[in-house]
Amino acid sequence: MNWEETLIKALIWFGVPIFLLLLAALGLWFGLLRKMLKKAEADFKKNSEEQISFVKYFRENKAKLVSSKYSFKDVGGIPEILESLKEINDFLTDPEKYKEIGARIPKGVLIYGDSGTGKTLLAKAIAGEAGVKVFSISGSAFTEMLVGVGSSRTNDLFEMGRKNAPCIIFIDEFDALGSKRSPVAFMGEREYQQTVDQFLAEMDGFENNSGVIIIAATNRPDALDEAAKRRGRFDRQIKVPRPDKAGREEILRIHFRKVKHDPKFDFEKAAALTPGLVGADLESFANEAAIIAARKGKKQVEMVDFEEAEDKAMAGLGRNRKISPKEKRLLAHHEAGHTIVAKKSGAPANFHKVTIIAHGEASGLTSLYPEDESGHLSKEEFLKLIAALLGGYAEELIAFNDMTNGACNDIEKTTLLVREMVCAWGMSEEIGPVNYSKSNNLLPMESLAEKSVVCSEATLQKIDNEVNKIVFSAFEKAKQILIENSAATDELAKRLIEKETVFNEEVDAILKDYPPQTEKKS
Ligand code: ADP
Ligand code: ZN
Repeated sequence: MNWEETLIKALIWFGVPIFLLLLAALGLWFGLLRKMLKKAEADFKKNSEEQISFVKYFRENKAKLVSSKYSFKDVGGIPEILESLKEINDFLTDPEKYKEIGARIPKGVLIYGDSGTGKTLLAKAIAGEAGVKVFSISGSAFTEMLVGVGSSRTNDLFEMGRKNAPCIIFIDEFDALGSKRSPVAFMGEREYQQTVDQFLAEMDGFENNSGVIIIAATNRPDALDEAAKRRGRFDRQIKVPRPDKAGREEILRIHFRKVKHDPKFDFEKAAALTPGLVGADLESFANEAAIIAARKGKKQVEMVDFEEAEDKAMAGLGRNRKISPKEKRLLAHHEAGHTIVAKKSGAPANFHKVTIIAHGEASGLTSLYPEDESGHLSKEEFLKLIAALLGGYAEELIAFNDMTNGACNDIEKTTLLVREMVCAWGMSEEIGPVNYSKSNNLLPMESLAEKSVVCSEATLQKIDNEVNKIVFSAFEKAKQILIENSAATDELAKRLIEKETVFNEEVDAILKDYPPQTEKKS
């Protein structure tokens, strides 16, 4: 055998199997590759289908059309609000009446108030009363959607409304849409602003008297875009307060309609147990009480079950939501202070009632402050108003010889008001009719910092002195009134602790029954 033959043989012996092995590996590899490709393709297809159905889902399901089974009978504790909503009811049921006379029916109603106070319930009740359907959508779903689908969303919603008129378009969490700041982090400021603008433009383009009323609800009216509140948009603004004791009793009665309960069940006591709580809390208490009673094998809910439910639920809610007895006493004196000073000084007011259940920013005094801020008040009237504003703070000092941060809002309001009196309205002799406030919203300090108002150090000092003088004299006046009328103030506080709300007539009666103790000085 020569060496060539040996080489060929060796090649055949080793080379062929190696070649075959290589071939097999290649085939396997291709097979795998194909499988992978197929899978990727399928994934891709699935993904894009999902993408489409995602968009479709939003387009079709985010605004739900429902007919409402609720009526005003299902809403408790806010009779004044129901009264004011009857008007809206009329707009929906009899728009012709308004059209004929040439009246412009408001397009939008903004309902605001703490969470759980029944804003959504109110919207449903309005629809139910009028027998019209509601499109519900949340502001956040709305904005979220706009990222994927563009502004056609807004269009669709209004279009749907038009087709189904008369109806209500209800937008929950409206602050997510109408807010000053972008709610969706990945949405650019510009895109967001476009959404809001588009929405408002649609609203403007919306015919008046079209039979569609847009109801928006928010917990944070302060976060809303000013543009949303402009005339022709959300003309009607309704604040839903937390319920007072009588209100809570009514709400409890509503939720106990469905729950079998002891005929002797003490609703008044149940309401007294729950100061500060809202309708949603009370509803869950009623349900919890029913569960507890059922678990004990009872046929009906008794007071003890409610007390147990309240205990249990409060643990979950966090105690601080409920007003403690100590806090109640403090609030009662604070509000009594405002009221007595306002009444005795004759502050310009639309006084209707005083309540210790927080109405948000300024509890009892909201009804004191003149509704139309552009309305003209005299300097004398402003001074009385400022005394009343400081009445809460003054009474805290007198009754408890201490103070809380509860008066923070009053102090802020007072300061702003007095600064305006001095710097913009020429109500201080020292300063005279010179404007040191760039606009109604700018304080002299800020203006100075912006170097937009020319004002010397000396003038600044004078302004300071004048502001202090007015504030302190109003404070002294408030104290004087409260000391003279301490019997009436104490009595009013006592009744506020008991009932939480006291109406005007009763305040007058108290003032009559408890006349001033000392002769008026000065
Ligand atoms: P909001 O929209 O203000 O957060 P909701 O309307 O969603 O509050 O309230 C939640 C639930 O609480 C309602 O469905 C209702 O059962 C109950 N509720 C709230 N407020 C009231 C009320 N004033 N009267 C009766 N039930 C109420
Ligand atoms: Zn106050």
